[in-house]
Formats: sequence, C-alpha cells, structure tokens
Amino acid sequence: MCGKEYLWRKKWLLVPIMCCLSVLLPGCETDPPPPFPYYSEPRQTCIDLATVAVVTSKNYATEHVVIMVVDGPRYSETWGDPEKELIPHMANDLAPQGIVGTAMYNEGVTRTINGHVALATGCNQDINNSGKDFPARPSLMQIYRKMTGAPATDTWVVGSKDKIEVLANTSHREWKDQFLPSSWCGTNGGGNGSGYGSDAETVVELKKILTQHHPHLTIVNLMDPDVFGHRNDWPQYINGIRTTDDQVWEIWKHIQTDPEMGGKTTLFVTNDHGRHLDDVADGFISHGDYCDGCRHINFFAVGPDFRTDLVTDTRFEQVNISATAAELLRIPNPANENLVMWELFR
Ligand SMILES: [Zn+2]
Ligand SMILES: [Zn+2]
Repeated sequence: MCGKEYLWRKKWLLVPIMCCLSVLLPGCETDPPPPFPYYSEPRQTCIDLATVAVVTSKNYATEHVVIMVVDGPRYSETWGDPEKELIPHMANDLAPQGIVGTAMYNEGVTRTINGHVALATGCNQDINNSGKDFPARPSLMQIYRKMTGAPATDTWVVGSKDKIEVLANTSHREWKDQFLPSSWCGTNGGGNGSGYGSDAETVVELKKILTQHHPHLTIVNLMDPDVFGHRNDWPQYINGIRTTDDQVWEIWKHIQTDPEMGGKTTLFVTNDHGRHLDDVADGFISHGDYCDGCRHINFFAVGPDFRTDLVTDTRFEQVNISATAAELLRIPNPANENLVMWELFR
C-alpha cells in the first residue's frame, strides 16, 4: 500500500469517530434526529485527486462500460412494483443475466444534473440544475482518456436533454478543457442550449456511435419519464417507463451483437433521481427533496465480470456505480476504492 493511500485511509477512519463525537456533544440531544439518511450538504465521498494513484492490477473481461440513466421514474412504478408491469424486459430478459439492486439511492440532491454528475464524476455535488455550470470534478471519461491516451471518440456523453452536455467538461482548474469526451446531447445532438431532443432519436444516435466507435465509456440520458411526469401526464409518464425499458433492452441486444463490444461490455442501468411519493408535495409530478420517492432509485448491472441472477438489498448510492466502473476500466478511482461494489463481481 503506498504512503498516500495509507494516509487517506487514516483520514477516512476519522469520519465515524467525528460522527460519534458530534452525537455525544451537549446541546445536540434535543434536536430531532433527521430522517435517515439525511445530509444537509451532499455527502462528500470523493478523494483528493492528487491522491488518485492506485489502479487495480486485476484482469477483467470488461473493456467497455455503458451507464444508462433513465431520468426520473419512481421506484414504485419500476422495480418496486411486485408485478414489474412496466419494465418487462428489465425484469424478465435482463434480470436473469445480471444483478438487481433493491436499495440504490441518490444521496445527494435529487435533481437531474446533480444525479448525473454524481454518476459521471464519483462525487455528489450541489450544482446548478439548468446546465449553467460544469461539474467541479473531472469525469470518468476525462480520467479514462488521460490514463489511456484514447481519442475523444472513445468516451461519450449522449443525452436527450441538452443540458446533459455539461458532463463533458469540468470547472476543475487542472482538468478544464482537457481530455474531453465526445458528446451528442439535445435536439439533433446540438448540445447545451439546443433544447430537449427525443429518446427515440437519442437511441438511434447511440447505436450509431456504438457501432462506429465502440467507445470504452459512455454515459446516456433518456428523459421521457421525467418530462411527462413534470407535465402531470400520468399515461405518458407510464408510457415513458415502458418505452425506456424497451430501449434499454434494445441497446443491450445491440451491444451483444457488436463484434467489438459483445461479451466485453458492462451495462449499468440507473436513475438520476426518483419522484415524490404520492403524499409528498405534488406527488409524481415533481422531485428534488429528500423524500424516499425522490431518493430511492433503480439499479441493474450486467457484464462479463458480474454475477448473474442476483438480487441484492445492500444499500448503495450513485457514486458506488462510478467507483465500480472505474475499477472495471482499470482507471484511477475518483470516488474511492472502498466504494467499489465488490459483491457484484464473480
Ligand atoms: Zn425532473
Ligand atoms: Zn420527494
């Protein structure tokens, strides 16, 4: 173990000690306990980038990672539905091939850009949700390119929502404008400011990108459940969940038939956030607070290094996905290595 890593681990040990101390401090005992788990600030899981030096030496069959983010369905209409009525492909075709997580949470801010940034950078960040700011930390895509010397077309940000393009850069002084991934976001892939596109168009483009470039790391946003939820259009919200279920299945089949990506790709399917429970605020129409509906999200993973036909109720959060993706791609882990979801591995 290198010195820096050891130092960092010692610092990490201080966290539970400090938490215990704060509980024991007089004056705190009359405060009602916050709903668990509650963080007044997005919980910081990321480590000092200067200490990011340890790369796994393990050999994995995975060479490509795709993170699909379905924007804003509720757990109760997806994996939380005992019948899984709206996600037949996920439940019947994909689940036997991979791992379903029943306790995945957004532990930061339950809005679109925040959820995506946690996944892409391995750090929860309270960031502007309108696409006005870049993430404070470099993305896995940038780290991948820096580590491997891969061209821009080897990592992608693909999204129906134009603002998702902010994932393709960072405000971090040492990483801004460097090792940027390619991006195709919004109307006709026009990028931030072009307006929302359509999931159907995004899927067509994604398939083209996968076929042409066989990227090693891709993060994808599909938006329909969120968009129709905000319009208070329950039938179209439900339809959006069904459609994105179809699209995830279609993409997985496409990957498996690709000569370079088939059998060598790990797919994660998750959400940026959920939506309010029915008895919170305006219910399924909105999201953004700390209610369980907003925080409890989907998790599914499938790939050559993962177990199959497994359902886990271990509590995870979005940055666990970033950490696990970094591990599989053998790049420095921007979250921290203790966050790798080891139980998923064969
Ligand atoms: Zn939304
Ligand atoms: Zn809520």
